[in-house]
Amino acid sequence: MPGAYAPFPLTFDRRVSVQMEPIAEGLMVRKAGEDLLDELREAGADATACYQCGRCSAGCPVAEFFDLKPMQVVRLCCYGREDLLIKSRTVWLCASCETCTTRCPNDIDIARVMDVLRSRALRKGQSGTEPKVVAFHKAFLGSIRNHGRVFEIGMLTSYMLRTGDLFSRVGLGLEMFKRGKIKLLPERIKGSGEVRAMFRRKQK
Ligand code: SF4
Ligand code: SF4
Repeated sequence: MPGAYAPFPLTFDRRVSVQMEPIAEGLMVRKAGEDLLDELREAGADATACYQCGRCSAGCPVAEFFDLKPMQVVRLCCYGREDLLIKSRTVWLCASCETCTTRCPNDIDIARVMDVLRSRALRKGQSGTEPKVVAFHKAFLGSIRNHGRVFEIGMLTSYMLRTGDLFSRVGLGLEMFKRGKIKLLPERIKGSGEVRAMFRRKQK
């Protein structure tokens, strides 16, 4: 039945015990979070189809570092608790590997759920609980935008400047350089103009 959720306590992770509201209150909260559910549906991830089977959580290779399991993330979306989700580590640590997505029997694209939550938070000016992850994403995307592919030294410099962590990886960088894994100058690739145009279109 669309819009009806079982009053399911989210107590699967010993480190986190998010007690959900009873169904009537849950439905009220859901109404407040309707725009999140709509954006998720548009992105191909209908969170309301989840019946909490747990297959997504069981297969996630990063789950041991999460404070909310993927199934809890999906359930909290249904309850409109974006506030809790943005404050969790899970949304920011998710590696977008899509294992959860491929395991979901209801075709819920859980990796996309994480993307949408991150994107909404950044649009609202919130950087979440893992600013280094956000810094890495920005440095990575900046490198792709400028060169059409990753230019490792440029990306790492951008990451270090964003995080203020200027020295901890210098040794590793030198070692990689000695082994020919990173180059001093960026390589030009065919189609880098198209890549830049793609970024410009997305920023409009
Ligand atoms: S695998 Fe799909 S249906 Fe099962 S708990 Fe995860 S999101 Fe819900
Ligand atoms: S996409 Fe994220 S939540 Fe899903 S299995 Fe991979 S790391 Fe876990």
